[in-house]
Amino acid sequence: MPFLLADPGVMNQHCINFRIILEKYVNVKTVAEGKIRRTIAGERFGDLVYDLSQMMVNHFRQACHPVPRLAYLPLGASGTMANFDPGNWQVAINIALVCSRNDLPIKFAPVVFSSIYHEYRHAEQFSLMIRYVWAQHPAWLRYQNMVYNAERNHLVLKPFQVPPIALEAALNEWKTTVTTMGVGAIEAMILRSLSTVGGERVSAAAVASLALYPLSTLRGCSQEEINRAALWFQSRFRTWVEEFGGRASLLEMGRMFDLDETGAANLASGEARLYGGTVDKELKEWNATQPTGFPGWPVSSKTAEGRALDGLRRTRAPFNADAMRACRAYLTVRREAAIDLITATQGWYEGVPLEADTHALERQIQKALKFSGKLVDTVAKDAGVLKSSYLPPPKDWTLTSI
Ligand SMILES: [Zn+2]
Repeated sequence: MPFLLADPGVMNQHCINFRIILEKYVNVKTVAEGKIRRTIAGERFGDLVYDLSQMMVNHFRQACHPVPRLAYLPLGASGTMANFDPGNWQVAINIALVCSRNDLPIKFAPVVFSSIYHEYRHAEQFSLMIRYVWAQHPAWLRYQNMVYNAERNHLVLKPFQVPPIALEAALNEWKTTVTTMGVGAIEAMILRSLSTVGGERVSAAAVASLALYPLSTLRGCSQEEINRAALWFQSRFRTWVEEFGGRASLLEMGRMFDLDETGAANLASGEARLYGGTVDKELKEWNATQPTGFPGWPVSSKTAEGRALDGLRRTRAPFNADAMRACRAYLTVRREAAIDLITATQGWYEGVPLEADTHALERQIQKALKFSGKLVDTVAKDAGVLKSSYLPPPKDWTLTSI
């Protein structure tokens, strides 16, 4: 029985349920010229989001995965609609999405649904990875080894067969070992296997709740699904002691990995956002008023444009059309560099296995519910989750009268 969120049948069913839930929230209004407008009351959008996540909660219960808590948080204006935090085992929805006072166009709903689906899929990925870690536990492996040998009893002579009582004893040993593990032991295991190099933590409660559910106990879990969980784990987690041989630092010679891939992509895109934000501020200041003097922001001398502008500023050259052109040229290269950096880190981020998986799911939902990727940006901008004009091109003030 297939049951994971990535299964096309499961996704289809969730899309059907989404449409049923949505119907409860639709207001039909007849506007000018007899046209019909289908909207959702702004103050009910939070309830809709709650109902949609409840659908995911049911899914988690059925699969015996720990259920993430739902929160509405300010997640900024850099485009994050929602996120999953494995440390708090929490799915957070950007509060900007659910605090509109105005009626929202119905087309907002599938976009939000697809981003909720994305985040719960992350929670599912982490559940599978934790189950994968439990499946590596020595007591579980001893039991599995016993099962393997018991299945071959008919091939060996009686004295070498595994008696049922031994099988049961191995299973009990496993159960006792994991159910009596204290918080300290579980945390030590997390530190050893589940803490990312980037420092992100995984909830000890979520890990403990999966103690008796190693990956292979998940009913209907295909080998393909198990392999995928192993890949995610490898891309995301490093075991310090095993991978780094007890070395104190990753920077020591002979290390196998730089950083876990998601952590590295997160750091890079964080830096890109910071850089983009600085450039955005400079551009907006420049565009807001017709400048009458050199800008106050620091000028990088890494580019020819930067060195030219800095030269003019340092020699106290008059702020004439040439100076304005120098400012604009400098801001243009800064803007292009910021866009390149953001695009590159975005591409990297989407290529890490966990994100590649969730993005593929989102594309399937877009197909099933028939909406475009462009709409996602429109919704994010309308809701204030994404700045509406980010990195504007600098105005050419030399073209106006000076
Ligand atoms: Zn994601």
